[in-house]
Amino acid sequence: MSSIYMYHAVGDEEQTAGADPYYAVSETLFCEHIKCIFQSQPLAMQLKDGSKINHSCITFDDGHLSNYLVAFPRLLEKKLSAEFYINTNMVGTEYFMSWAQLKEMYDAGMSIQSHGHNHHYFSDMTDSEITEELKTSKELIESNIGNLVTVFAPPGGRTNKRVTRIAKSLGYKCIANSRPGIVPFFRSFEVPRFAILKHTNTNTIMAWKSRWSLATIKEVIRYRMFRIAKLVLGNKRYEKIRMKLLTGSE
Ligand SMILES: [Zn+2]
Repeated sequence: MSSIYMYHAVGDEEQTAGADPYYAVSETLFCEHIKCIFQSQPLAMQLKDGSKINHSCITFDDGHLSNYLVAFPRLLEKKLSAEFYINTNMVGTEYFMSWAQLKEMYDAGMSIQSHGHNHHYFSDMTDSEITEELKTSKELIESNIGNLVTVFAPPGGRTNKRVTRIAKSLGYKCIANSRPGIVPFFRSFEVPRFAILKHTNTNTIMAWKSRWSLATIKEVIRYRMFRIAKLVLGNKRYEKIRMKLLTGSE
């Protein structure tokens, strides 16, 4: 059993500009996290050139530029790999990584996977829109980088049975969810992930390795409460209220 951690932007205020500050962690905190995660969860992976790298349970959503500028050098330094879920329509635009940067990361042992073409909620889409998003993002990553795309992380964790069915039919092997939990020994199509927030400390990360720790139970309850709020309010109203609470603005 293991745990998978979901990051977004990494760095100071300037480096994480354009990202959701609620999910952005400092470089110092990120370094403390990776040290603690891999001390207790080492998994070696063979690279194409025959060298070994520690396999990833660290993931990044959104493709923010700070992933390349701040997190990538730190991962390389420690010979660690991570999985990056990108929105292909955002590649190379302000605050986001370019194809050249993503290719450089892939060549160094990182995995580049899909977060959709646009950062839209899949639970709000029709079947043909879901197909289009999953197909376009997979094709663009594979043609620009050469990395086989088999994992999809749904934006905002919004997924349902239709998304699973369509993803499977297009060759995806896994959905990296935003639901907190321990990865079961026999992996199912959807794997849970723990969302790293601005102040998540190493004690919490260590406690998330156990299914029955207080931190894990608290995280599961927090996620379920947010999920109910999203269902009751609908995605648009939920986002509006969330932004108001986070920024104090409309
Ligand atoms: Zn996202």
